[in-house]
Amino acid sequence: MYLDWRKVVTMSRPELQELQNRKVRWFFQHKLPYSPYYRALFGREGLRWSDFKTTDDLRRLPFTSKVELAPTVEEPAKPRQFILQPDEHLIKKFATKGELAKILWGKLTKADVQRQLEREYKPLHLHFTTGRTALPTPFTYSEYDLHSLRETGRRCFNVAGFSSKNVGLNAFPYSPHLGFWLAYYGLLEAGLTALASGGGKIMGSQKIMDSLERLKVNVLVAIPGYTYHLLRQAVKQGRDFSNLKYIVFGAERVSPAFREKVQELLHQVKANEVQILATYASTEAKTAWIQCAEHTGYHLYPDMEFIELVDADGNRVADGEPGEVVYTALDWRGTVVVRYRTGDLAQGIDYDPCPKCGRTVPRIRTDIQRKSEMKEFHLTKVKGELVNLNNTFPIMSSIKGVDEWQLEIRKHNNDPFDLDEIVLRVSAKPGVPFAAVKDDVEKHMHADMQISAIVEEHTTEDLIDRLGMETELKEKRVIDNRPKT
Ligand SMILES: [Zn+2]
Repeated sequence: MYLDWRKVVTMSRPELQELQNRKVRWFFQHKLPYSPYYRALFGREGLRWSDFKTTDDLRRLPFTSKVELAPTVEEPAKPRQFILQPDEHLIKKFATKGELAKILWGKLTKADVQRQLEREYKPLHLHFTTGRTALPTPFTYSEYDLHSLRETGRRCFNVAGFSSKNVGLNAFPYSPHLGFWLAYYGLLEAGLTALASGGGKIMGSQKIMDSLERLKVNVLVAIPGYTYHLLRQAVKQGRDFSNLKYIVFGAERVSPAFREKVQELLHQVKANEVQILATYASTEAKTAWIQCAEHTGYHLYPDMEFIELVDADGNRVADGEPGEVVYTALDWRGTVVVRYRTGDLAQGIDYDPCPKCGRTVPRIRTDIQRKSEMKEFHLTKVKGELVNLNNTFPIMSSIKGVDEWQLEIRKHNNDPFDLDEIVLRVSAKPGVPFAAVKDDVEKHMHADMQISAIVEEHTTEDLIDRLGMETELKEKRVIDNRPKT
């Protein structure tokens, strides 16, 4: 069971390390053996559950990645192997002495035991990953997990510093994805009056703007691209969002230049003191982490997970060094992964107390790049080149004259054997000549990404349509129209 958050955030580093070591022992000996996937892996690799006594021992465990986890057409049931599934035989073998004593000597009837097991392990709720490359992967939550989800939601809003007097609006798209539900439970647990709008596709942006004004919303939880779209409309309509104090962003990277653009729009709707807080979430980790202020890292939950960074060879990096985020569950049920390679590249983890809030929990530095967004282009027929599409986001948001944009990768002449082309559809901000914006975009793409893009002029309205701002769950910022080969 997780600890009291007020206590966790004051523990010293040795205390947190000891806590995590204890959790590793407990989780690996008494919970993880209920996972069919990890039982098979331990068997294959000749590993013993009792070999895992500290977080350092985790280095001996082979990584898990999307390859093992994601369902395929041939093996649609793969994710089920990652759900903890105790049966009578396994419980006798792996339950703690305390748990066994309760069953054997306690006053519990068979039905009581059954009910307790269901409460802890039976999958009740599902989220899906939103990968473009693999089939969507389900992640299940038991009742125990739903408590943990609520608890982590509450922790997020505690770190963010919301008061229960604040009024919230959840503008995440209503869907079986982590974002909407974490915001939903978090606002509930934190005791805020809140509207779960379901986002633009469900409630519509007009009604969301009406609600922001009428409910005097202080806390808006939303996706960055959609927020920008919403604020731009609000400016046009002369809305008054002066009660807004916080925006919590999820699902996408938030660059400093993007924050600035959002702040500019906020000033135009009379919201002059808004803190923009970003979160880092992972469907596989079943929760999200948040900043306590605009420049601090994502505050982790060391009593529920262990997060390490590894280099390209899979070796754990030294404290503060950059690397790929590797996640190990220490207190979840339902679908569980350990030593999971997220594919996300972080600049480092800080272990000293947070300079802003003093909480002692480790923090992942904010600028995280999602490796899954890198794609291979063949800009010339002979030389393949790896282009990090992630960089398009900060570049486009740093160009002041750009209002909206979309990137398309396509084949020249629509011929599958021809060269790849990158087309940037761009609309200019009102009053800015398109020629100047085009020039800026071309220069930046060339200098920062070594890409020659074809820059096309569009109206903002047309781009909003193409991006699916009001119709899609997630905006279509980058589209790949190359034929599949
Ligand atoms: Zn802090």
